[in-house]
Amino acid sequence: MTLTVEILGSNATAPSAAGPASGYLLRTEAGMVLVDAGPGVMAEYVSRHSLSDLRAIVVTHLHADHSLDLMAFAYRWTFPERLPRIPLYLPEEDLPRLRAFDAVFGIDTLPGMESPTHAAWDVRGLRLDGSAEEGWEELGLQLRSYRAHHPVPAACLRFSSVAEEAVVAFSGDTGHCEGLLQAAQDADVFICEATYLKADPQATDGHGHLTARMAGEAAAQAGAGHLVLSHFGLDEMRAVAGEHVAEVFDGTVSAAERGAVYGPGRVTVS
Ligand SMILES: [Zn+2]
Repeated sequence: MTLTVEILGSNATAPSAAGPASGYLLRTEAGMVLVDAGPGVMAEYVSRHSLSDLRAIVVTHLHADHSLDLMAFAYRWTFPERLPRIPLYLPEEDLPRLRAFDAVFGIDTLPGMESPTHAAWDVRGLRLDGSAEEGWEELGLQLRSYRAHHPVPAACLRFSSVAEEAVVAFSGDTGHCEGLLQAAQDADVFICEATYLKADPQATDGHGHLTARMAGEAAAQAGAGHLVLSHFGLDEMRAVAGEHVAEVFDGTVSAAERGAVYGPGRVTVS
């Protein structure tokens, strides 16, 4: 089974000339899984893919740069035609805030739009305890979620083929923590946030983010094969972030670029 990741967006905070905020597409023979839906991600997705190819959506946490386009996807899921119902996963402790998101943007006079995300998808909670989440067998995948270090409930994700011959991990937003290392353990491809090149401890250990160097240290500790740095605070970081990792990680390193596809044993740009 092949398991690859296409980068839809790799910015922290907001879209820029380099593309959307956070969004990734996990691709398997059985279909595709959207991981995070920051602003700009839906436009990027529909520029290359059909919505009917999505089999599930996973949102690591409810910060706007990872989830704002969920509402755009939800509107489109309902109108002009209703698209197939698929699962939406997000940290279960934040399911009430998804209801609040619906309360802001629901349209009471259009049937099915009163509660857009719940009308569109089968909403399921991520447990963040490392156990295998339910509902992934059809895609030939296993998903485990781990608790990230961030100010809202947030997931580090570990996707694997059932036989674990291919593992793709996502840090989401996080400071250094055990959940990050567990998700990334021996991952073939590790998409890891590198919000900063330099940061004070309040930004990293206090709030919960990583520098590029810290991402490299986590990749080395976890034994990851290919580290893909992402969630850049500034566009210019893509050109230099790899240099900050070289001292601490001796595997393959890439800086996530919109449209790039990464997978075990190969790197291509579509
Ligand atoms: Zn965040």
